[in-house]
Amino acid sequence: DKRDPIRAAAQVVAAYQEIFPLNESEIDALYSLTLTRLGFSVLIAAKQTRAAPGNEYLNISNAAVWSLLEKLREVPFDWPTRAIRFAAGIPVVNYQSSTRRPATELLAHRERSLGPSLSVSYESPLHIVAGSRQFLFDALGRRYLDCVNNVAHVGHSHPYVVRAASEQMARLNTNTRYLHELLTEYSERLIATLPEPLQVVYFVNSGSEANELALRIARAHRHRTDVIVIDCAYHGNTSAMIDISPYKFDGPGGRGCPMCVHKASLPDIYRGQYRENDAGARYAQSVADAVQRAEQNGGVAAFFCESAVSCGGQIILPDDYLRQAYAAVRAAGGICVADEVQTGFGRGGSHFWMFETQGVVPDIVTLGKPIGNGHPIGAVVTTREIADSFANGMEYFNTFGGNPVSCAVGLAVLETIKEEELQQNAHHVGAYLKERLTELKSTHPLIGDVRGLGLFIGIEFVRDRETLEPAGREAAVVVERMKERGVLLSTDGPFHNVIKIKPPLPFSRRDADEVVSKLDMVLEDFRN
Ligand code: PMP
Repeated sequence: DKRDPIRAAAQVVAAYQEIFPLNESEIDALYSLTLTRLGFSVLIAAKQTRAAPGNEYLNISNAAVWSLLEKLREVPFDWPTRAIRFAAGIPVVNYQSSTRRPATELLAHRERSLGPSLSVSYESPLHIVAGSRQFLFDALGRRYLDCVNNVAHVGHSHPYVVRAASEQMARLNTNTRYLHELLTEYSERLIATLPEPLQVVYFVNSGSEANELALRIARAHRHRTDVIVIDCAYHGNTSAMIDISPYKFDGPGGRGCPMCVHKASLPDIYRGQYRENDAGARYAQSVADAVQRAEQNGGVAAFFCESAVSCGGQIILPDDYLRQAYAAVRAAGGICVADEVQTGFGRGGSHFWMFETQGVVPDIVTLGKPIGNGHPIGAVVTTREIADSFANGMEYFNTFGGNPVSCAVGLAVLETIKEEELQQNAHHVGAYLKERLTELKSTHPLIGDVRGLGLFIGIEFVRDRETLEPAGREAAVVVERMKERGVLLSTDGPFHNVIKIKPPLPFSRRDADEVVSKLDMVLEDFRN
């Protein structure tokens, strides 16, 4: 009786896989067997009813089975197997048949043809050719548990997202200068996930573009230029975003902090200046100090802050931090921008948006990465008042932003998060993983800190738990060795000593156990 029996069946398969995995042939036989079983059910009932016409019990499941069979008649025959293959974490389409070029050749071509400022992960780069759920597959058919890709939010190549994109692509793809149901429906559905005052949306194509537009809107609204940012923060790759990203302007090749940008301390309660219960208030004071510096320069236009600082090393904001920081910014007439590019859409587990864990409502929220599960979408959501003042005569047009394909994809992502209870999964599995990683701390001195919310987790490595000397080299070695064991991780933070865990949300307890047991083995080599 489920509205979508295939999605329901796929969830049963996913749960089954956790305890007693089926093999690929079994997975592929499942749908035919299911139909056969349903067929038998009605046939047996019919035969027995003929023998005992008065026995109603014989027909107890008949109506439900018939209605299911009728529903399934409308479903293309290969579709359920796609959904079931995905649920089982195996690639939906065959990926082993196509001829491939060797990795060394691909690398050489890449170095010849692509800009050299683009890096590639791992000492010996991976040649990834397929993905399913929280797994990636290389050209040799080896499977990796992906603990890094927060873009493939509902899972790599999720069949519902793929279907939404390809069906809409086949039908129509234009721009937002025409009326379209999907644009209206998606805007409404997205806005409904946000608190009341945030009710106007602009669609763009990336997180960088979203932040870029947020900056323009804030500056236009306040007629000011200055921006306050968190030390080590990253907000995007455009010129203006590099200028407000200490992660870049203070790093290699960077040109330092521009005059109109004011840095506030990274609110890190493990390594930072303040580590006590009142750290939230103290770090918020650093924002208030930046507000003062901006005042001397014409005043603050905007305060940009991620709702948990990712590139800064998976920093969870201390209690009351954003509330007090926002108050200081707003008292000086500034706009508060929450960058939810990495943290949004239920990753935090307890809330759909990470800013909600701080009990605040931003003036502008920027969205990216998970919003399209890999399809390039970004969005800016703001209040009616701010949006109206941005409409100052200059049109804002974006060729691709908000096109029907993107809207179809965005809707499929929102629906999947809800239907597959992925926020709840992030909450439970994230708490379990954090607990198990914290246990590892007692046997492995390299682990200085384990922190996180939901499936947004950081493990900070130190050489000495007193001096907190960062163990960046060790973190890099651990990432390489985990990769050899089939687990993909990455590092970040100002000292590159924080292991980031931010997997696709279907990540399971079984996966958490795999990460912990392999990390336990790898860390054995680092015990003094
Ligand atoms: N904001 C944050 C917090 C990010 O982490 C990123 C990307 N790493 C961006 C913005 C920019 O997003 P994109 O790369 O999609 O332009």
